[in-house]
Amino acid sequence: MIIDGSKIASDLRAKLQKNIIELRSKYNSVPGLSVILIGDNPASKIYVKNKEKFAKEVGIFSEVIRYPEKIDEKTVLEKIKELNNDKKISGILVQLPLPNHINKRRVIESILPEKDVDGFHPVNVGNLSSGYESSIPCTPLGCYLLLKTVEKDLSGKHAIIIGRSNLNGKPMTQLLLKENCTVTITHSKTKDLKKECNRADIIIAAVGKPNLVKKDWIKKGAIVIDVGINKTGSGIVGDVDFKEVSQVAKAITPVPGGVGPMTIACLLQNTLACFKRTNS
Ligand code: NAP
Repeated sequence: MIIDGSKIASDLRAKLQKNIIELRSKYNSVPGLSVILIGDNPASKIYVKNKEKFAKEVGIFSEVIRYPEKIDEKTVLEKIKELNNDKKISGILVQLPLPNHINKRRVIESILPEKDVDGFHPVNVGNLSSGYESSIPCTPLGCYLLLKTVEKDLSGKHAIIIGRSNLNGKPMTQLLLKENCTVTITHSKTKDLKKECNRADIIIAAVGKPNLVKKDWIKKGAIVIDVGINKTGSGIVGDVDFKEVSQVAKAITPVPGGVGPMTIACLLQNTLACFKRTNS
């Protein structure tokens, strides 16, 4: 089974759009998303363009605040302060990576936790790991929703997460623990990754290494979610050798068309959730 992330994301956006129409008549306002984009990173520019496009499609007010690469940190922090106090803005996102002279931690921590649509603020990270309501980072949330389309009950499954970044691996761990999975988190220093993967019912690959995960790493019937986006001479590929692994996995996400579209749809879902929290 190929998990069609594009279709699942499109269905989620349609649901959000309907919800926003209802909210507009109830509150006479719509969720607002501000994206801060610093510099000219080509990948960041594409991500932001897509975020803006889909936000508009579902009826979210959206604005992109663009700064040149050399902008000073103080100006960015002042802008965030202004957005924190702006009633029409429910969610603030600062597109990463940031230029080296800007302190990522200070920037993330300056966003009000209730407007932190990326779920990167320590308050949200803490809430997620304590099992409390929080903004959940968009990519792991997307992976989780894709998994749930394959298997409603994940309880007791053994999940292997490859990669321990704050963006992907760590929040994914929390989401799967909440579902009563037994979770093993692996990384570049893990001794025998193949052996770890061989015993997994669920594999989440978030590494950034093209085709790292091979067919003989997969237990028959496992579910494989590929977060990786790697540019190669033959186009964009994931961290999983899709052609081979799809022969043994019960379900697998393609790259592109798997996790990627869900990341943006989950950002829109988070913006709506922030709006609901601040209006309830
Ligand atoms: P990251 O911060 O670079 O983290 C990569 C992780 O992989 C690290 O924990 C690293 O271990 C681990 N790793 C590296 N080589 C390994 C190996 N040979 N075996 C096992 N683990 C290894 O990356 P990230 O931001 O999480 O992104 C991961 C991938 O997801 C990238 O391809 C990125 O482009 C993609 N991505 C996709 C989306 C989407 O929407 N689909 C969103 C975000 C990111 P150490 O901690 O030991 O260094």
